[in-house]
Amino acid sequence: MSGPIYILEDEPEIARIILRELEAHGMSALHFSSRAAFRREITRRRPALCLVDLTLPDGDGIDLVSDVLRKQAIPTIIVTGRDTVHDRVIGLELGADDYVMKPFEPRELVARVRALLRRSEAAANTAPSRKARFNDFLADFSSCELLDPEGQLHQLSFAETRLLQAFVEGAGRVLSRAQLLDIDGQSTHDPEDRSIDARISRLRKKLGDDPKSPRLIRTVYGAGYIFSAKVDWLGEG
Ligand code: CA
Repeated sequence: MSGPIYILEDEPEIARIILRELEAHGMSALHFSSRAAFRREITRRRPALCLVDLTLPDGDGIDLVSDVLRKQAIPTIIVTGRDTVHDRVIGLELGADDYVMKPFEPRELVARVRALLRRSEAAANTAPSRKARFNDFLADFSSCELLDPEGQLHQLSFAETRLLQAFVEGAGRVLSRAQLLDIDGQSTHDPEDRSIDARISRLRKKLGDDPKSPRLIRTVYGAGYIFSAKVDWLGEG
């Protein structure tokens, strides 16, 4: 593990449970009870992963996820008592990698943390620079960046990067929702799970793909999605 796990949680009892559980499993973690303290620390030291509560005394955690964590591609799990599908989808759209609902089973949380750490470490250990060009876009899967044809740079979340990489690697082939959930490392294979769709819609937006008639990530009804572009791999990858 390359750094500590940061926990942003204002309820001391929950923070204590999470800290104890992570430490019992050999992971080092630091706890912050306000957005301000968390923000300060994140500029000083990069964590291996963040657990972020959404409802905090000094504001909402949502914009932290979108402004700070996603931009720096820090693996993030939202841990919240807000239990609407809306919040879940918003959280994932904004770039969180996973979502755990309170009350949670501490072992389940640890399993999710471990799974996400494994995914991010595996990604960091892949070829030093994997870049691909398609339709005048340039995607850098190491730095989680997407350069659009107008020269604008988009920062992708870790989960979005994995998803885009899967599409680019599988260009021209239909990828089922189950396959995409696998890539995503989601433990549940609930066919009703809409988190993949939320991420795809976000990715389409960044690719300038019209959601009504997408041309790059096309929906194949009853089958999944297909990435339709000619792909050129660049660099050492
Ligand atoms: Ca709270």
